[in-house]
Amino acid sequence: MAYLGIDVGGTKIAAGVVDSEGTVLDRLQVPTPEGTADAVFAAITECVRQLDTAVDGVGVASAGPVDLRAGTVSPVNIAEWRGFPLRDRVAELFPHIPVELAGDGVCMALGEHWTGAGQGVADLLGLVVSTGVGGGLVLGGRGYPGRTGNAGHIGHMAVATEPACPCGGLGCVEVRASGPNIVAWAKAQGWAAPADADGKALADGARAGDEIALAAFARSGQAVGMAIAAAAVLFDLELAIVGGGLAQAGDLLFDPIRAAVATHAKLSYVSDLRVVAAEHTKDAGIVGAASLVARPATTPTPPE
Ligand SMILES: [Zn+2]
Repeated sequence: MAYLGIDVGGTKIAAGVVDSEGTVLDRLQVPTPEGTADAVFAAITECVRQLDTAVDGVGVASAGPVDLRAGTVSPVNIAEWRGFPLRDRVAELFPHIPVELAGDGVCMALGEHWTGAGQGVADLLGLVVSTGVGGGLVLGGRGYPGRTGNAGHIGHMAVATEPACPCGGLGCVEVRASGPNIVAWAKAQGWAAPADADGKALADGARAGDEIALAAFARSGQAVGMAIAAAAVLFDLELAIVGGGLAQAGDLLFDPIRAAVATHAKLSYVSDLRVVAAEHTKDAGIVGAASLVARPATTPTPPE
């Protein structure tokens, strides 16, 4: 058996053929085009055409928000798609096999649950700390969609009362923790940033002992760790798996995350909560999307 996993994001669209063990046999990715809604979808059609698509099911992970009740997606970073009927459009390409859709956060969590850092763990949170901060839950061994398919979106949990977040809230994890946001924060504190400074440059600065760069990672890790602790208390979690570009900074991010978790997750049932790095660096979305059709017992139950 083989499955097609498609991962649709604001900057790239990736697709891969995944076998029954979760091994990626073939993959490709293209930049997410701009233009019309159909032009964006045409990139998916082209990926599918180039891959060997003699598959037994197709899973689609999409940037959110999604609406699994309608099978539609309205990704913040794909302006052309508002209420776009992604599930039905992909099903038209594959009329005789199962097609499943879920948010990219829950797919990341399912990818780690299947073949990554979350194997054998029934209750976990997957997070991506990158340009934004996203996440998804596996609860009781099954991806958890919530009412509309957007559960686990930890980037917009409030962990402070400032600053303002583009979502309209205040003190969200994302606005305190994402790569671009901590780079901007460091610059505002007087960090002597190199040209085109990014999260990696900030990590280099922190490793060289720059106090502002270190403080920026501490601020990010504290926000992420507070949110992990809150989610763990709420959902009785065993494990939090952190991936995404900023997680490549390693201990610079994980040390303050773990310190915040230790400070805020005090109840006995979360005192052994573990925070680990994601094992998938690029294919979690593809593997998690394929998981939607390859492992039905773990697929989120579609909302009514
Ligand atoms: Zn927000």
